[in-house]
Amino acid sequence: MRHIQQFAAKLILVALLSGCATQAVRAPLPGEPVADEISLLRGNFVPGTQPDGNTVLLRGRGGLVVVDTGRHAAHAARIIEAARASGQPVAAIVNTHWHLDHVAGNAALREAFPQLQVHASEAIDQALHGFLADYRVQLQALVAKPGNATPAAVAGWRGEIARIDTGAQLRPTQPVRASGSFSPGGRRLRLGLERNAVSGGDVWLFDPATRTLVAGDLVTLPVPLFDTACSGGWQEALGRLDGIGFARLVPGHGAVMDHAQFGVYRGAFDRLLACAEGDASADACKAGWLHDAQSLIPPQDVALADPLLDYYITHVLRADPVRRGKYCHKEPHE
Ligand SMILES: [Zn+2]
Repeated sequence: MRHIQQFAAKLILVALLSGCATQAVRAPLPGEPVADEISLLRGNFVPGTQPDGNTVLLRGRGGLVVVDTGRHAAHAARIIEAARASGQPVAAIVNTHWHLDHVAGNAALREAFPQLQVHASEAIDQALHGFLADYRVQLQALVAKPGNATPAAVAGWRGEIARIDTGAQLRPTQPVRASGSFSPGGRRLRLGLERNAVSGGDVWLFDPATRTLVAGDLVTLPVPLFDTACSGGWQEALGRLDGIGFARLVPGHGAVMDHAQFGVYRGAFDRLLACAEGDASADACKAGWLHDAQSLIPPQDVALADPLLDYYITHVLRADPVRRGKYCHKEPHE
């Protein structure tokens, strides 16, 4: 009997040691833990500076998947440092959309990990000839006549021009043209494509193993960012996201939320659009969003939300019909 007990104890010890050995091979994934082998590097979004989008790291057997790469060099450096600390190379980037705060780090990551593939929609091609080309003209005019601008502001404009000029390196190597499954780094994931929401080509990513949805700017806090959006198409896209069986959602800006919190976001979004279409004052619509989404907005972010809402309600949601429809397309979603 004693012999059997000793044998059993040995087996347990072996099992424990092998468990430790397995864990020892894998360094913890840097960043805020989101789910098993998924972490978040939060993007900066504070008044007075251009934002960085959130970056999500997902680890598979054969490498990392990096969702979005931020705008500033410091954010890309954080991603590269995190990848190196994780002990695995970056196998793939997924860009949720072409805005500079989500793609500009692609160039530095591709230099650090030349084998990686970039999965993204092709909407960036149109943007490089349209929105981003126009923005570059505006930036050049500012640099040429800086007036009383601070040297830091001028350096910021030059930085934006330099980012736009890396255009070719920001494009996808693997264009996402339809929703479907793929397995970068050995991790099975679903990609979805929305063509008529925030940017003309929004990609979301769902990890079925952990029921984690990475939504990009289809969900952003402290406010939805309407600059290149088709607000009605976006509203419909949020309805489709709601139908995905996710337990947690990582937004393009802001903190991780659960499905019930996403329901709060969606309701607040619907009411904001309804308010903007009605007769209420812009201030009333703003107060409505801040009230409806209050539980999702950290108190210190209200100061950031305030001017953004003033701008979007008056100059986008209540703009003339041409401006309102500028980013709406007829193509159905995938
Ligand atoms: Zn963004």
